[in-house]
Amino acid sequence: MTDRLSLKAAISAALLASLAGCSTTQNTDIPPGWQPDTTYNITILHTNDNHGRFWHNKYGEYGMAARKTLIDNLRQDAEAKGSAVLLLSGGDINTGVPESDLQDAEPDFKGMTMIGYDAMALGNHEFDNPLDVLEKQMQWADFPMLSANIYDKATGERKYQAYQMFEKNGLRIAVIGLTTEDTAKIGNPEFIGELEFRDPKAEAKKLIAEIEETEKPDMIIAATHMGHYEDGNRGVNAPGDVALARYLDEGTLDMIVGGHSQEPVCMEGPNMYNTSFKPGDECKPDQQNGTWIVQAHEWGKYVGKADFEFRNGELNLVSYD
Ligand SMILES: [Zn+2]
Repeated sequence: MTDRLSLKAAISAALLASLAGCSTTQNTDIPPGWQPDTTYNITILHTNDNHGRFWHNKYGEYGMAARKTLIDNLRQDAEAKGSAVLLLSGGDINTGVPESDLQDAEPDFKGMTMIGYDAMALGNHEFDNPLDVLEKQMQWADFPMLSANIYDKATGERKYQAYQMFEKNGLRIAVIGLTTEDTAKIGNPEFIGELEFRDPKAEAKKLIAEIEETEKPDMIIAATHMGHYEDGNRGVNAPGDVALARYLDEGTLDMIVGGHSQEPVCMEGPNMYNTSFKPGDECKPDQQNGTWIVQAHEWGKYVGKADFEFRNGELNLVSYD
């Protein structure tokens, strides 16, 4: 009896060992792509809340043509310095001006493709139209439109791509997408009935644990459309980027590229906005629980630029504009 029990114990121990062995094998299958004592530069460019502004305004300001010129220049500068570049959007490409709305934002998505966006978060306004319009927009865009927390009620599965991996100069960068739960309230009920907008904080935690195991990223960025609220004071809104950074273990996310609240997120001090920020002023992004949080106002008025240095597994923000 005792022997049989101990045999059973031995078998389960062996089983556990082989299971643990599996995950170890999986991990060592992905050795780091970077060299020790070598500095790698990464530049993250970002915009958000385009809202149909593919044309310049009546004063000749912004518009996607000017945005392309600016981004081309920033890209050239960065690449000349050996910096890898990633261009991200915090979502809400749709809805704002009739020229765009009447064309289902075709110029906007095709423009973003020409500018060379790498990924975007799905915003609540991506759900203003029937879902087949969004499907069509995904064809126009040659970059992924991400959201980890939107589920298909019928299947219980994620409806959209949750994350995208990028390999830049040997570094593995994970970009995950998250969408405000408020979409369930402010999206068009006619079109989103079959979708469930789950808590993006909990979904982020779950997904990050998964990809840390399977993808071994050197850097994790969340492209979000959740809003940035000073010190997390969100009022009637669903929890935003500050709440997300505070919810996760310290430094889990290296960066949040946000949208939705349509602010230039420039801080005066900890948990305090610089309310007098003007174009050309220095902009200090928010930092919460070891995570940098950025947002570039709206309509392509600004392009944000974050320069990071990666060395021996450590990532540091060198400058932000
Ligand atoms: Zn929004």
